[in-house]
Amino acid sequence: MVADAEPQSGSTQPKRRRLWRGCCLGVLVAAVAGYLALFRASPLDPEAYPEVAQAVGVAIEPHPEVSFSLIQTAYTDSPQAMIFRGGSLFATHRTTHMGVLIKHPSGLVLIDGGLGSRIDEEFEAVPAWVQPMLGFEEHHPACNQLSEAGIDPDSVKILLLTHLHWDHASALRDFPQAAFWTTKAEYDYAMGDAVEPPSYLRSQYDDPALEPNWVLKELTGPAYEGYPHSLDVFGDGVLVLVPLEGHTPGALGIFLNLDQERRYFFVGDTVWSAAAIALLAEKMPLARWLADGDAARVRAQIVRLHRLQERDPRIVIVPAHDAVVHAKLPAFPAFSE
Ligand SMILES: [Zn+2]
Repeated sequence: MVADAEPQSGSTQPKRRRLWRGCCLGVLVAAVAGYLALFRASPLDPEAYPEVAQAVGVAIEPHPEVSFSLIQTAYTDSPQAMIFRGGSLFATHRTTHMGVLIKHPSGLVLIDGGLGSRIDEEFEAVPAWVQPMLGFEEHHPACNQLSEAGIDPDSVKILLLTHLHWDHASALRDFPQAAFWTTKAEYDYAMGDAVEPPSYLRSQYDDPALEPNWVLKELTGPAYEGYPHSLDVFGDGVLVLVPLEGHTPGALGIFLNLDQERRYFFVGDTVWSAAAIALLAEKMPLARWLADGDAARVRAQIVRLHRLQERDPRIVIVPAHDAVVHAKLPAFPAFSE
């Protein structure tokens, strides 16, 4: 019996070794294939988007009476590779959740507003498997920051919403005296049956008490900076809304024009990093699948942003979640000069 067993043992070990090596090689090949599929740089080709019109520049009147400030309400850190294709697996991208407060002679305007005071209860609707990806730190709601700086939150006249995703509609109920500006397309979609957590959290906006606050806008103004339509909020060229559908059906882009040299373009979540515009990079596929409603339209929007930036590098394009860009803007309670 022993004599029979020894040759068996001797032939099994090389087999196991081969099997083990085969498994390791398989894992390695799968890892490389996964990396190539998910994270490898794959720049968009602008020539493939002939429908994206070349922008014509706009002359901007100076508006010294207008100033703005960026209010950070929380942040999340993640690998840059999760933010856009070609990003590094070893570099950190800081996702800031912020609002932009604008002092205009007609009143205070707030863009988005970051994570509001009820975010913890709102977050309970987010599926457990997604929560670790969306977690955040140092939460400090905009309404509290305004009060601490001696500004009554009820004095905010307009809440301008880039879109109604969970991290952009969270502050609505903190500003019950404000008019909530969005597009009809965005509102109708958010109120429809197709939406579900984590992207849209109904508790934030689907509330009869908020019905009087909604102001649903159609962008009926002329073409503007390469966008087919626009809407000038106060009719003075300071705040101009343009369609940025793709990430969501009725997403808005918002130009803030202080003078010809100081122009800011708030682009919501069309990209999560300004680097993605320069690199013509989409979000990484998993993030795109989770976050972008219409990936083909987002691609065209990235090309449009790229062309705009090429034509006028003075325009500061501000993604909603790029701490690198946000660090260059005045941080609340400081305002632009
Ligand atoms: Zn967002």
